[in-house]
Amino acid sequence: MRIRVDEIPESGRFVHLHWDQGRLREFLPPDDPFEMKLVRPVNVDLEIHKRSDHLRVLGSIQGLLELACHRCLDPVRHPLNEAVDLFLIEEVRTPAEEETELELEELEYEFFDGEVIELDQLIAEQIFLSLPHKVLCSAECRGLCPRCGANLNTEPCRCAGGDERSPFAKLNVLRETLPDKKMD
Ligand SMILES: [Zn+2]
Ligand SMILES: [Zn+2]
Repeated sequence: MRIRVDEIPESGRFVHLHWDQGRLREFLPPDDPFEMKLVRPVNVDLEIHKRSDHLRVLGSIQGLLELACHRCLDPVRHPLNEAVDLFLIEEVRTPAEEETELELEELEYEFFDGEVIELDQLIAEQIFLSLPHKVLCSAECRGLCPRCGANLNTEPCRCAGGDERSPFAKLNVLRETLPDKKMD
């Protein structure tokens, strides 16, 4: 969704929309390390107000995400509950006065071209900024065995304690389960 600044009324523009998996996918990097999925559509409620030299975006972005555990890759549910309070400043209007600079440091702000707000881009950024640095299914997650790939939370390591299976081990198991075809 794109919003033209000259179409925002003085009373503000209110945006309510839902973001589904398809929309999210447009913004995910191809090698998304989080394997991010939406459990339900993201609920976006924003109001955009015109001020003399900037725009202010206020509201919330809420949803329920599913991310891959950093260690075991199991899906982990992550509630998304972002309060948005953002200042959009026209790119050419770089703060010249020291006073303005100081003020800006305390605010969350972004530059834009002064004419069109790329709202989807803005929503995607807010979602990504809210992600934890490292997703874990639990602090005690034991992860995957780097050799056999066993999920050490739920199964024993298949290569520990000298029980290393050769490719032939599988074959032996297969033989045991086959009916005895030995003939005289
Ligand atoms: Zn885990
Ligand atoms: Zn192992």
